[in-house]
Amino acid sequence: MIDSHGHPITDGGGRLELSAINVELASDERSRERRRQSGPSRLSHELLGVRLAEYLGCSVPELPEAREKASRDWPAYVRGLFQASGISGLVLDPGWDLSATTSAAASFHELIGCPVRPILRLEPLIDRLIGEGAGAAEVLGAVEQAMHDAPESGYYGFKTIIAYRTGLAVDPTVDMAMAERSLRETADLPVRRRGKALRDLILRQALGWSAELELPFQIHTGFGDSEIRLAEANPILLEELLRTPEGEAATILLIHGSYPWHEELAYLTLAKPNVHAELSMFNLYAVASVADRMEKVLELAPTSRVLCGTDGHGHPETFWFGALLIQEGWARLRDRWAQQGARPSWLEQVGADIMEANTARLYGF
Ligand SMILES: [Zn+2]
Repeated sequence: MIDSHGHPITDGGGRLELSAINVELASDERSRERRRQSGPSRLSHELLGVRLAEYLGCSVPELPEAREKASRDWPAYVRGLFQASGISGLVLDPGWDLSATTSAAASFHELIGCPVRPILRLEPLIDRLIGEGAGAAEVLGAVEQAMHDAPESGYYGFKTIIAYRTGLAVDPTVDMAMAERSLRETADLPVRRRGKALRDLILRQALGWSAELELPFQIHTGFGDSEIRLAEANPILLEELLRTPEGEAATILLIHGSYPWHEELAYLTLAKPNVHAELSMFNLYAVASVADRMEKVLELAPTSRVLCGTDGHGHPETFWFGALLIQEGWARLRDRWAQQGARPSWLEQVGADIMEANTARLYGF
């Protein structure tokens, strides 16, 4: 498969603490200790531990030592996991360190042994400029410049995490005066909650620029790490934005299966020919229902606009585990639909499209 959404690997080998694979961000010792205690009680932790022990040929209690030993040759260990996962390409969201992006993609490619296509996340630039006291026009201009420079800088698309900032209820009617005012009126708030009107204005324009550049645009929807306000991450909140000329022109991917709003995502993908459904992340955490969640999207949405990913991050095992579960989920769903009468050749085509061809088409693999 080609992984339609993942992040850099920050691990470098050694013992693996499974409870660190979590959506909770707090990094103080007390929170870590609580995560260590509750981790083993989560099904995703249990299944990842069992699968990984199987892969390493040890028992679950032996896992930390076995992983430490197996990962001594780190590049070989990572490559082995990627080969076993069937991942043959990756769309990379490098996250925060924009300066290192192209070199990060190159070294990442080297490490995992398959092609990597980085995408440009807009918020690091927007947040930095807001934090430095820039005006609305300056921030908008900087985003325009960065997006137009993106292809030459080695980016294959864009991403916004506005869901983590001021939410997906984007007002497409805001103008520059409102954007400017929104900065002044929120001066006392943390940067991430500042300038809703400005962020809304930027996103509408950015969709227009991505359409001009013919590069796809990922929008974070649904759950994520504990910084998100889930009530602001429902993809249905994007409806007004998606009705604008920019919202209709861009190639938009709503990512993470919009968990838990799969049906809303499916409807948007069905109703809007430029919207794509990207299925990653829930496979890492909601591990028992992957096939059911995929079905909620795939029974309604055109399968030519559904992409499968892992949201792998930090530890290479997350890519491997996410890829295995989503491929198993599809295998289960394929059997279900075969029993309902779908033809084998049609099912084969759907599998090839959602696992590989749709992502390859959008990101030029
Ligand atoms: Zn992600």
